[in-house]
Amino acid sequence: MAGTSLLDTVTSVFEQAASKLNLDPGVRALIGSPEREIAVTIPVAMDDGGLATFRGYRVQHSSARGPYKGGIRYDTGVDLEEVRALAALMTWKCAVVDIPYGGAKGGICCDPKALSKRELERLTRGYVNMMDPLFGPQVDIPAPDVNTDETVMSWIVDERSERGALWSRASVTGKPLVLGGSRGRREATGRGVATAALHALRRLGMDPVGRTVAVQGFGKVGSWAAKFLHDAGCKVVAVSDVSCALFREEGFDVSLLTEHVSGAGAGLLQGYECEGMCEIPRADILTLDVDVLVPAALEGQITADNAGAVKARIIVEGANGPTEFAADEILAGHGITVVPDIVANAGGVVVSYFEWVQNLQCLQWSMDDVMARLDALMTKACDEVWNTAAREGCSLRTAAYMLAISRVAEAAAARFSSIPRRGG
Ligand code: NAD
Repeated sequence: MAGTSLLDTVTSVFEQAASKLNLDPGVRALIGSPEREIAVTIPVAMDDGGLATFRGYRVQHSSARGPYKGGIRYDTGVDLEEVRALAALMTWKCAVVDIPYGGAKGGICCDPKALSKRELERLTRGYVNMMDPLFGPQVDIPAPDVNTDETVMSWIVDERSERGALWSRASVTGKPLVLGGSRGRREATGRGVATAALHALRRLGMDPVGRTVAVQGFGKVGSWAAKFLHDAGCKVVAVSDVSCALFREEGFDVSLLTEHVSGAGAGLLQGYECEGMCEIPRADILTLDVDVLVPAALEGQITADNAGAVKARIIVEGANGPTEFAADEILAGHGITVVPDIVANAGGVVVSYFEWVQNLQCLQWSMDDVMARLDALMTKACDEVWNTAAREGCSLRTAAYMLAISRVAEAAAARFSSIPRRGG
């Protein structure tokens, strides 16, 4: 069933877990649908003097457990349906790691590589202009996502201040340190992925030292996940990105790969060379005989078509939605353990939450402090998901959704009965 959309996958998993929980139909309908969806047209004065318009979106999926929280993506593939799926994932992700946020996501349909820096800045400020009343430290807190970074977050916090929102560091996360960013934000998601992988190995009685790992995607998530797994003694035998896939039986020195990508490789693995290494077809990274596979590139990579060929013992989902719903059953049938995205890649939003807490308290924590708190929170979440799966006799994905949905449902039900105006 290749070609299933991310929204189909997220909705199917939600329905499955909600049924297992015997969720009240009213509460199920309430928390299963986005609370608010906004689509806007953003005018941008281009450098050549022309006027261009772009479509922007923000889906505020749930505020049951706290302010909306979620990144803003700039990509040609952005549409309302994709943003809706990603917003729902944020709700379940924040709930499963038990941080006091709801879920949201935003995006602008554009090709950021085709825009100058000044055009990108005007586009970002235009988006904030259209959305601003709906953003705020206790309302909806944006963050970086695909093709957005610290610079874009700096423009957002500045634009909000310019627009009379007062100087409020806590209104955006993923900022540079100088504007109140948190130490450890860059490595957070990959660090969390590694923590989830090491936790899974231990729960399955497998000593992490010497275990083989393949990582698809060597960007912000994959490169840090590879580094932390390498540091823990695992052998990173394969890595890939959009340019190529590399294999080395003795394992790679991940710091050399990173050095290449951030230097001569200009962001890509292509051109990296070392003794004993060979290039393999890019699709083969998913079917290597390894202990741990980390898909950390794109959604919809493991499908009903290729799931049967996967040989990894454990899959740890660094990307959002890399496994289609139909593939899950096939993987389970082959005895493959899947640590789902909403737990495995939650490290980024966890450190975003730490950034927000530091901003609200006018504090700046040390790197050691951030990492210790991140490790503790991720380990607790992994323990809870594994224990729920054992108790309920279900997959880790269903268990993670059951935990998340029950927390959101409890909050929504409590608020519904105590806030009559929400009843209409
Ligand atoms: P990124 O752009 O930094 O890296 C993506 C990597 O995937 C790049 O190395 C790219 O070359 C590679 N890639 C693209 N197409 C590929 C293909 N067909 N085959 C192999 N590799 C390919 O993005 P990122 O921030 O690392 O995000 C990766 C995934 O993780 C996305 O699904 C994102 O939504 C998810 N995620 C990211 C964060 C975060 O904090 N950055 C947090 C949670 C989830």
